[in-house]
Amino acid sequence: MRPMDPVRVRFAPSPTGYLHVGGGRTALFNWLYARHHKGTFILRIEDTDRTRSTDEAIEQIFASLRWLGLDWDEVYRQTDRFDRHREVAAELTRRGAAYEKDGALWFRIPRDGATTVHDLLAGDVTVQHTELKDLVILRSDATPTYNFACVVDDHDMGITHVIRGAEHLNNTPKQLLIYEALGWTPPAFAHVPLILGPDRTKLSKRHGAGSVLDYDQRGILPEALVNFLARLGWSHGDQEVFTRDELVALFDLPGVNTSAAVFDEEKLLWLNHEWLRRLDPHRLGDLLADRIVGRGVADRATVEAAGRDKLARAAVLLRERGKTLVEMADRARPYLPGPIPLPDDALDLFTSDVRAALRILAVRVGELDDPTAHGFETALRQVADERGLPLKTLAPAVRVAVTGSRVGPGLFDVLAVAGPEIVAARVEAAAQEDRS
Ligand code: GLU
Repeated sequence: MRPMDPVRVRFAPSPTGYLHVGGGRTALFNWLYARHHKGTFILRIEDTDRTRSTDEAIEQIFASLRWLGLDWDEVYRQTDRFDRHREVAAELTRRGAAYEKDGALWFRIPRDGATTVHDLLAGDVTVQHTELKDLVILRSDATPTYNFACVVDDHDMGITHVIRGAEHLNNTPKQLLIYEALGWTPPAFAHVPLILGPDRTKLSKRHGAGSVLDYDQRGILPEALVNFLARLGWSHGDQEVFTRDELVALFDLPGVNTSAAVFDEEKLLWLNHEWLRRLDPHRLGDLLADRIVGRGVADRATVEAAGRDKLARAAVLLRERGKTLVEMADRARPYLPGPIPLPDDALDLFTSDVRAALRILAVRVGELDDPTAHGFETALRQVADERGLPLKTLAPAVRVAVTGSRVGPGLFDVLAVAGPEIVAARVEAAAQEDRS
């Protein structure tokens, strides 16, 4: 390592499937390390295994990183560098460190001695050479293998720190031997401990952990997933909620834990709720609008007609109970125009007395001077008084008429956000329902 060099790190995914939580965390740690040290974050697509790499997976990786907000400074595809890999392979042959067999080119592991990885997180890990086997560096179709291409590229790209998952610690002694055979200085290594499921087995789909973009689908905010991934194996005192700027300011390798991290879905939902509540209402309203359309709760024209301010106000109400954008969108119908069906199990609320009161209320609401929560409250109280009905009889009927549900945020706030036009139309429609 050359400690004074500006930091250059890379995230090097193999595009053979979706970018999952573990890959997302590796990408984030590298990005944070680069940004913290004002270095360079490189994205290297390791597509040397041409039978398993797909363009779709590459697109997914780009989309996942963009969604997480992890911008890269340089991007490479390993397949573009095959000529260079072959050139270095020839050099290894010249130096007597590689030999041909069965059409493939093999790297010769020295017989004697041992290699020690001085890992910044795992500590010193020593492997006796007798435990290692010679390895293929060029397949018989002349494509390079991972351990070899990785060394050539890390060297050529001036990588100062290799930060990657602990599952690669086994590869590192072989990679160090290749550096040595070429007379190259290796980078520093930091192998980040594994992520386990709550049952302490290696994290998998079985634990509900999906791809990065699955979390977007499920209504998790990128702010929340970034925060969650950062805390999967890194900590700063007992702080749980971090903005991106705080993470950049605070993240460094000494804060990375040396024991495995446990993936806790409940904590992700908790963080998401925290982030929903911290978000600027208009930004949240815009996200909510997209989600409403995406989930078919209403069409784009309806959402646009409602306007940004209304969506922002609805979002502020919905985020009190909603833990995800999906939950919020699925409860947004009351705030958008159009009829709301009355649930069968609430029909008992609509007695003839109540319906008579609703009819009057619809007219009053249509003429409301003060369409605030307070104005709606006053109107409801007046109508209840005039009709000799307790508010606790009228209010639930109004709630069901406007929202289709017996539960939700504070009724008068709901009415104020829905607005007089929607409220009057729905109260009037409920008053027409004939129960007899
Ligand atoms: N392509 C490897 C992977 O996706 C990257 C390993 C490394 O970072 O060196 O696991």
